[in-house]
Amino acid sequence: PALFARFHPQKSSGKKNIVYICCVFKHTVKMETSVLYSIFLQCSSVTTDSRNCPAGSLFIALKGDSFNGNAFAAQALATGSAYAVIDEPEFAPANDPRYLVVDNCLHALQQLANYHRKQLQTQVIGITGTNGKTTTKELIAAVLSTTYNVHYTKGNLNNHIGVPLTLLQLKPEHEIAVIEMGANHPGEIEALVHIAEPDYGIITNVGKAHLEGFGSFEGVIKTKGELYDFLREKENSVVFIHHDNPYLKKMATNLQLIPYGEEADLFVNGHVTDNSPYLCFEWKKGTDGEMQQVRTQLIGEYNFPNALAAVTIGTFFDVLPQRINEALSDYTPQNNRSQLKQTAHNTLIIDAYNANPTSMMAALENFRNMKADCKVLLLGDMLELGADSLKEHQKIVDFIDGCSFHSVILVGQQFAATRNNYACYPTAADVMEAFQKEKPQGCTVLIKGSNGTKLSTLVDAL
Ligand code: ATP
Ligand code: MG
Repeated sequence: PALFARFHPQKSSGKKNIVYICCVFKHTVKMETSVLYSIFLQCSSVTTDSRNCPAGSLFIALKGDSFNGNAFAAQALATGSAYAVIDEPEFAPANDPRYLVVDNCLHALQQLANYHRKQLQTQVIGITGTNGKTTTKELIAAVLSTTYNVHYTKGNLNNHIGVPLTLLQLKPEHEIAVIEMGANHPGEIEALVHIAEPDYGIITNVGKAHLEGFGSFEGVIKTKGELYDFLREKENSVVFIHHDNPYLKKMATNLQLIPYGEEADLFVNGHVTDNSPYLCFEWKKGTDGEMQQVRTQLIGEYNFPNALAAVTIGTFFDVLPQRINEALSDYTPQNNRSQLKQTAHNTLIIDAYNANPTSMMAALENFRNMKADCKVLLLGDMLELGADSLKEHQKIVDFIDGCSFHSVILVGQQFAATRNNYACYPTAADVMEAFQKEKPQGCTVLIKGSNGTKLSTLVDAL
């Protein structure tokens, strides 16, 4: 009664015989996913970033190593969000129905995404693999978008947060969704496929990357295979498989397969016709299809299976060959992924977005086979390789020893620890300093390294 009197003095004064029952309701009732879903449907979008809360959005308070989203819920509501999902009830003021309390915000986000995905008729294609996921995803989306209403992962949002956020952007009018799934540890793809529940799957390849988290190459195979494991259990599922890859063939048992590769009788088959510098290839459907020619704006022969995967999926979904070819010809790579750049001084192949032993070897082989007078190699460390790191860096150095590049510049502690006769610099900033005195001129320069080595900062200087 005292509390009630504080908020409603006019009602409590002088009425001695009336007992007021005051209920301070702090929304500590936990939300069912279906209830949360009905609120989601009223919202304009979902956001987890309190600095970007569009009007009418649903803010979900995630936690990171150095932040607690619960603490930003009030700000999210003040700047535009209609509701805030939190998992620490003490951050909700009393009697504010805009706060929705759940047990765990991350789980709520993932369950909501899965719930939403299940309500829609959209066909979902899940894509994972060690290398080429983003490129292949973009190419598939470009091809399918010529004929269908397609939704696909933006950029590289392929983790336990990015996948659900991507799914929550699905609209009933989307006919196909292409969802990129990434992993650094075993079990991560399993978690993502149970959120996205794909109908179709593609593993671009399996290779050596993130060995620190996966433990071993077998760990990589097991984790990527979690996509196949899910589809094996799912009725009418289909897997698009790169038939030239022995690891994938071994993994893909008891699945309905649509194969692509170089052998002439595959569902889609083809081969590279030119690679200097842009990838050109021919393809046809089955044994009787008419041969098609594609001239891409992609660098690197390793992009051939990526492009052929897009042809295969387009063909499977009855996209006309001419549209497939045009979509692939028009696509230009972004974000330092195999980009070709002509500067006033040099021709640059910028591949400074990521690096691991498999993609590094693919890039080096491609560069070795390229026709150019003066080839300069600017390589940064391959990060996150754990105990195998030195061995894998040495293998790269040994490979370079067998090529005749004009000059080689190595950046990072891992390369510095190898047996080599090349110029080694601790960081990209040190290379920049050296470039003040002397830098490549009139050369073709391959710039490749893990993002953390910051090689992209050298692009302007070259
Ligand atoms: P991330 O794990 O960062 O999401 P990703 O799998 O999405 O990477 P992309 O971003 O498409 O891969 O490509 C990154 C780099 O991987 C490319 O620039 C290229 O060097 C290499 N790469 C791409 N496709 C292949 C392939 N099929 N085989 C080997 N290396 C490849
Ligand atoms: Mg990616």
